[in-house]
Amino acid sequence: MELLKAQLDKVGEGGVLGGEEAFRLYDTFGFPLELTMEIAGEQGVKVDEDGFRKALEGQRSQARAAREQVDAMHAGSASALVAHLPGTVFSGYSSFSDSGKILALLDGKQHLEQAEAGENVLVVLDKTPFYPEGGGQVGDSGMIRGGSAVLEIETVSKSEDVILHHGKVLEGTIKPGDNVTAEVGARRRDIQANHTATHLLHNALRKVLGEHVHQAGSLVEGERLRFDFTHPQSLSADEIQRVEREVNALIAADLPVDCREMSMDEAKKQGAIALFGEKYGERVRMVSVGDVSRELCGGTHVTSTARIRGFKILAESGIGAGLRRIEAVSGNGSVTCQ
Ligand SMILES: [Zn+2]
Repeated sequence: MELLKAQLDKVGEGGVLGGEEAFRLYDTFGFPLELTMEIAGEQGVKVDEDGFRKALEGQRSQARAAREQVDAMHAGSASALVAHLPGTVFSGYSSFSDSGKILALLDGKQHLEQAEAGENVLVVLDKTPFYPEGGGQVGDSGMIRGGSAVLEIETVSKSEDVILHHGKVLEGTIKPGDNVTAEVGARRRDIQANHTATHLLHNALRKVLGEHVHQAGSLVEGERLRFDFTHPQSLSADEIQRVEREVNALIAADLPVDCREMSMDEAKKQGAIALFGEKYGERVRMVSVGDVSRELCGGTHVTSTARIRGFKILAESGIGAGLRRIEAVSGNGSVTCQ
């Protein structure tokens, strides 16, 4: 607080606090932008909001690039290293926390006998509630704890049937054979809301634009969702509004979301939508939202549509001949985002 006051004194009444400074206050000292603006306002100082957002976005893309580099390095050699391990049991459809045993630790190049505080590691458990990146849904983040050891997990991927937790040891020492508790972070709630919202969006687009609409790609994150689909021209403002209204009506109707495994034949009989280019086995998982939507999907979902709370389309654009892209938010994002 003292620091902010000193900076505001320096700027002086009627001046503007730079976006970089506001961002440093947020990033290093945890001052939310709204608070900085409020206090600055009391002293007649404006805050460069655009500059703040630019600095925030810059930091995010830097972090993303660094992570992708590490991931690519890890994933390449890791798949050969874990090929002999049994497939990981995924327990995260119904639970955010589970106990498990460490089967292997890797640094990306080799197996480790142990890992200490400060080390980046790939962790393989016998079972885990962490969802590995797949089907458009991003990997979970969260914590793994065992004995006196604490690991922060940044993301989770899959190599064949083995789930790889990408993380860092924060405290203590871990080794294969240790019993641990794996806890998925709260971001998963937003991811689930966005994933079910994606199915509702798919359904609404087919209803408003026509049955020629097919999913061409999808990204489901905690903050937002992106949906690519086949359609020959851009959407009118009226069409966007109708799609939004359709999705929000289904949210308000509080429809149950039911996920069930069945044979491919049974799913086809029930009219489930399969995604073009996806490989499906003999047993498939069908996600139904009330009577309105049935899709083959391995992702995680809310239990009823009311939990999505709200849906808003942020942007619609063309990404190639006959392909459109919608970016949208649900849940808290749709309420705070204008
Ligand atoms: Zn899905």
